[in-house]
Amino acid sequence: LIAGFDVRRAFGASVVLSGVDIMIRRGEVVALLGGSGSGKSTLLRALAGLDPDATGTITRHGRSAVVFQEHRLLPWKRVAANVGLGLTGDVPRRVAAALAEVGLADRERAWPAELSGGQAQRVAFARALVREPDLLLLDEPFGALDALTRLRMQGLFGRLRAEHGFSALFVTHDVDEALLLSDRILLLDGGVIAEDIAVDLDHPRTPDHSGFGVLRRRL
Ligand code: ATP
Ligand code: MG
Repeated sequence: LIAGFDVRRAFGASVVLSGVDIMIRRGEVVALLGGSGSGKSTLLRALAGLDPDATGTITRHGRSAVVFQEHRLLPWKRVAANVGLGLTGDVPRRVAAALAEVGLADRERAWPAELSGGQAQRVAFARALVREPDLLLLDEPFGALDALTRLRMQGLFGRLRAEHGFSALFVTHDVDEALLLSDRILLLDGGVIAEDIAVDLDHPRTPDHSGFGVLRRRL
């Protein structure tokens, strides 16, 4: 669904991406790990087509939607208007369905400022989902949440994936989250994809059989 070849990005003399090759196939959920400042957000923006100064060859198929670490809702628009922004067709019905899917059917008329962090993040999800994306690009979607809300959001992500069958590339700092939600883990290091590790879904996620051992050896 998305392929980047030799993706490069520098800020002045500081080279952040020095030739990233990456591919996300249909149906696949891939986690992107890497140290703080390693260029994960920069890569995500480049792949999303939001960075005109990134070079390389990026090809996208189908529709993609981005969820940023901060929810980026427009504070002067109600929840429903935020979700429906720019949509055409039967907007009220689609918006209502998307909000119901993230468990916020009753908050259509709320203002973003009236939401908790977790609720706002769910609205951001609904805003992405309502566009029926083939590919979701998510930058630490659960990073700003408390542990319990994060757990619920991870569950929601799994359910929505099963229902919608989207593919995703998500940035996370949490190795457990990467193992739980992804089919494959990429490590961004030194401006390139330094590791590409398949997560073995056929085995229980124990230290021996989950990819944990492989991760420990390779990270
Ligand atoms: P984190 O895990 O902390 O979110 P990250 O891996 O997402 O980090 P990026 O935000 O992609 O890291 O930043 C990578 C590097 O590029 C950092 O050194 C950062 O300072 C630099 N950088 C990012 N955006 C800009 C910018 N607009 N101007 C200058 N430098 C930038
Ligand atoms: Mg970042």
